[in-house]
Amino acid sequence: MKKLIILFFINISLVNYSQTRKLFFLNPPDTHVISSDLHIHTVFSDGEVWPSIRIKEARRDSLDLISMTEHLEYLSYKNDLKITDRNRSYNISKALLKKDEPLIIVNGSEITKPMPPGHFNAIFVKNKQGAFVFWNHPNWIENRDDGIAKFDEIHQRLLEKKLFHGIEVVNEHTYSEEALALALDNNLTIMGTSDIHGLIDWTFDKEKKQHRPITFILSKNRTIKSIRDALFNQKTFVWHRDILIGKEENISPVVSENLKITSLGYYKKIVTIKIQNKSVVPFKLRYLGDYTFHKNSSILEIPARGELLVTIKTKEILTSIKMSFEVLNVITAPKKNLVIKKNINL
Ligand SMILES: [Zn+2]
Ligand SMILES: [Zn+2]
Repeated sequence: MKKLIILFFINISLVNYSQTRKLFFLNPPDTHVISSDLHIHTVFSDGEVWPSIRIKEARRDSLDLISMTEHLEYLSYKNDLKITDRNRSYNISKALLKKDEPLIIVNGSEITKPMPPGHFNAIFVKNKQGAFVFWNHPNWIENRDDGIAKFDEIHQRLLEKKLFHGIEVVNEHTYSEEALALALDNNLTIMGTSDIHGLIDWTFDKEKKQHRPITFILSKNRTIKSIRDALFNQKTFVWHRDILIGKEENISPVVSENLKITSLGYYKKIVTIKIQNKSVVPFKLRYLGDYTFHKNSSILEIPARGELLVTIKTKEILTSIKMSFEVLNVITAPKKNLVIKKNINL
């Protein structure tokens, strides 16, 4: 009986990790879509919670990768909390991870200098070399009173010396088109982070269907080395509110993989197609071709993990058609949306 009970509990804990984890996207071929939040604070800088809460939040949000990026300069509780070891937050977090759970933690730190140059995160910190460094909240209104992200001379110099590699296009609740332009013009990795200080669920209200910003990293496999390489190679896109932001080459295979279109056949000369969305992001499509639809306008909304039936007037009975859509909530450059093309057998 005792054995049985133990087995029962082992089973429950296994089920917990595998079945309650959210799958954000189907993986395109030979790619692992890694979910990450790489800008997080705890009481070891100016956050309001102990690192264990961050681990629990990351598990609840099905994240694959996080980093505690406490800043070295600004410590809110230095009169109450003696911080002698700057790796403490990372070490406490790391010790809480179970042996085979999917969540990975990498060491990180926020370097908070006055503007210019402003705040930077360094992650995968091991020694003086090799860290992945990104510029935080370049649109922060405390530093830029017009909210416009732009380089100062020092940023150009840092960039020439390859001292930073990414830029936050999304920070907490904000999205910066100017930061996206800087990323694209200067081959910087597009980043989106929560920069969380309070509780995730209070800052991003789940009842209002909000979620923390997530940087998805397109990695060859799930090893830390592969994920780090992917970050250096700019293989990311960001989920913020109901939009995805990323370079076309990164985001196009993911959206294509997650939007499946199949035919349900003809009635008279009108064919019905089923558009399925396998992802957590609702997609808003604008049809770009010449056909007209029997029920819908050219704007089609495909709910997250849902589907939409569309009846197309093809005028004659065809065996296949080509359709192109602009994906209105997928941004590949300022004022530019992703276009996807599909061949559909009818
Ligand atoms: Zn900061
Ligand atoms: Zn911060």
